[in-house]
Amino acid sequence: MVEELDSFKIAQRQLDDAAEIMKLDKQAHQILREPMRTLVVNIPVRMDNGSTRLFNGFRVQYNNARGPGKGGIRYHPEENLNTVKALSAWMTWKTSLADIPYGGAKGGVICDPKKMSIRELEAVSRGYIRALKGYIGPDIDIPAPDVNTTPQIMGWMVDEYSKMEGYDAFSVITGKPLEVWGSEGRNDATGVGGMMVLREAAKTMKLDLKKAKIAIQGFGNVGMNAAFAARNMFGAKIVAISDSKGGIYSDKGIDIDKAAAVKAAGKELQEYGKVEEVTNKELLESDVDVLIPAAMENQIKKDNADRIKAKIVLELANGPVTPDADRILHDKGILDLPDFLVNGGGVVVSYFEWVQNKAGYYWELKEVEEKLDKIMSRSFRDLMQTRKEYKENGKDITARTSAYIIAVDRVSKTMKARGWY
Ligand code: GLU
Repeated sequence: MVEELDSFKIAQRQLDDAAEIMKLDKQAHQILREPMRTLVVNIPVRMDNGSTRLFNGFRVQYNNARGPGKGGIRYHPEENLNTVKALSAWMTWKTSLADIPYGGAKGGVICDPKKMSIRELEAVSRGYIRALKGYIGPDIDIPAPDVNTTPQIMGWMVDEYSKMEGYDAFSVITGKPLEVWGSEGRNDATGVGGMMVLREAAKTMKLDLKKAKIAIQGFGNVGMNAAFAARNMFGAKIVAISDSKGGIYSDKGIDIDKAAAVKAAGKELQEYGKVEEVTNKELLESDVDVLIPAAMENQIKKDNADRIKAKIVLELANGPVTPDADRILHDKGILDLPDFLVNGGGVVVSYFEWVQNKAGYYWELKEVEEKLDKIMSRSFRDLMQTRKEYKENGKDITARTSAYIIAVDRVSKTMKARGWY
């Protein structure tokens, strides 16, 4: 049978699997299988050559039982509504598992920022916010950065929203530059939070991270910051990294500062120097202790899951492992920690940013990191505890299903308390 790779169908299947095991109420299940609101917008933008181009954008608000929608905006030439729907569902489970007072949402614009000027990028970003007037807001839905969207883009967006509303609504967007009241620690929060989870997972798996070999697929904001955090927190050896064009491998370890400098200079990773070149496929299958997919969806599938050698797969990307692959990894004894646990650090520090904006009172980095660590460690422990409890009752469920059970249970209990079913 051909494997299902439609992200939204995958998200629904993951929910269905959890619903069956946890015996979720049928009405709650019905509500949780579909997004509550789906917005499709077309944004006309005057390009540098004088012509006008129409950009197609989306915002999906999956569920707002536990609080306003929350989630990033992706800019990608292959963006599509179904993926954004899946990502908005995953945001709902992410905020619930972290136990922060939000629902889940996600946005996307079909565009290729690499082929646009700064002025065109700013025009698309401001246009997207104007198109969503009335549907986003500090207590309605709060966007943030994701694939190809930066703090600078968030700065333009918060400015556009504030101009429309006639006051400085800093809490409408998170992941902003510090100059417009972003939070300390937000920029590398996803990578750092992921490493806090890895630290806990390594204890469980009795893996010495000082001696561990790590491969990271994707060297964007998340992958790069994860590499720095792994080095700084554990002195771990990063043996392989990659970007969309391919990767590099060195048994001795990659010099992360040098690789970051190569990227910052606008060069390809292959220009790093005398190391082995690997494809993205080879990187996933390399002989490492920890594999960190930090790029796009559907990277570990039915056809390559069996060749994964890592002991821990740490999903920093959203949706990198398909349900079939998830089961294969689990049966091989690999601890595959799901995206909405591992990459939750971004939205957790987004929450801190929103709280600081609302209070008008700002925290030091140390305070942010301590609070983040508490949430990431607790979420990991909750997941492992749930998995253990099910195992004791004869059900050998994956780490992902365990995380689903916790997250779905919280959302459905809130819906029940609000009288939605
Ligand atoms: N885009 C990030 C994610 O997928 C962060 C979302 C946020 O900060 O709201 O979790």
